[in-house]
Amino acid sequence: MSHEEIDQFGFSTRAVRAGQRRTDEMEQSEALFLSSSFTFESAAQAAARFSGEEEGNIYSRFTNPTVRVFEERLAALEGGEACVATASGMAAVLATAMTLLKAGDHVVASRGLFGTTTSLFSNVLTRFAVTTDFVPLTDYAAWEAAIRPETRLLFLETPSNPLTEVANIRRLAELAHANDCLLIVDNCFCTPALQRPLALGADLVIHSATKYLDGQGRCVGGAVVGDRERVGKDIFGFLRTAGPTMSPFNAWVFLKGLETLRLRMRAHCDNAMALADWLQHQPQVRQVHYPGLRSHPQHELAGAQQTGYGGIVSFEVEGGREAAWRLIDRTRLLSITANLGDAKSTITHPATTTHGRISAQQREASGVTEGLIRVSVGLEDVADLQADLEQALAAC
Ligand SMILES: *Cc1c(COP(=O)(O)O)cnc(C)c1O
Repeated sequence: MSHEEIDQFGFSTRAVRAGQRRTDEMEQSEALFLSSSFTFESAAQAAARFSGEEEGNIYSRFTNPTVRVFEERLAALEGGEACVATASGMAAVLATAMTLLKAGDHVVASRGLFGTTTSLFSNVLTRFAVTTDFVPLTDYAAWEAAIRPETRLLFLETPSNPLTEVANIRRLAELAHANDCLLIVDNCFCTPALQRPLALGADLVIHSATKYLDGQGRCVGGAVVGDRERVGKDIFGFLRTAGPTMSPFNAWVFLKGLETLRLRMRAHCDNAMALADWLQHQPQVRQVHYPGLRSHPQHELAGAQQTGYGGIVSFEVEGGREAAWRLIDRTRLLSITANLGDAKSTITHPATTTHGRISAQQREASGVTEGLIRVSVGLEDVADLQADLEQALAAC
């Protein structure tokens, strides 16, 4: 199916159909091409493929038909011209940074980023003379003040991890463009089923496919979505040269995951809303962070910018780390794991896991306190999740 045809369809149709090309076997489900390389009819054809004169498969570091189906499907869902699939979400961030930045450049990023992303910007890229300033996600004056002549990128996650703060994408896109910068949004928490940053003015979208795009906790992968020039040519070129590629097997799992994405996201949202609402009435809980709650500082913005509030709820218990660990250890149904976006609900203590490698000072500044617990609300019966947390809270 051509891009033009796919563009006429709604989101759910794209999620099921975009990118598929049947082979002569006329398979109904997408074929899995577990082949590292591809053959040519002649030496001349090999030369034409390598020079780019002729389109076609060469080698699965950069051309694989199964990976391409995933890329085209995700691009169709995000409303982007091009998508490049990567080995992990971190590989997507790295490929973007290595492609768009050079020594001397500067980045402004939000403080509440996924811990490893913060670490990449503040510990790895600094060795290549790329510096990053971190600002509070929703402090627009701080974003503006941090921009310098050598700033190239503004980078954010919304909602943020683990505090679910919500930034105004349109406003930050305008700020970026007024200063000759690009706005990059990590759309991991919402997925295109709930939020499409490109339509709000962002230049590139980053994904950890490991999370909701898979949705069942099986594979690690990532993606960058955006325009044909930057993503289709430049980031694709980086991938071809540097090699942080998605495996075709993982691409097959992810592309099947996209087929049920909207249904799953709706169910995650419903369960998370019910759980957040219940949690805010528990005496041991000091604060609940969930954009769907009226008490959330960006509740209205989230309602306008997203079509659902997401599946991540975090809450702070009285009694700091000890109480938080006791609660986590007492749960029986929720899985103690740092992963999120799974059908199975997961529970995490961010301060000592996902955000454990950043300095205590950076952590406190981003609001990740010792009593904070993050739950990625899965697809179980919400009454069972609530009962599990209820008996665990009694230990706090
Ligand atoms: C998990 C995650 C990443 C990194 O993805 P990996 O697939 O684990 O490399 C990046 N951003 C966010 C928001 C994440 O949750």
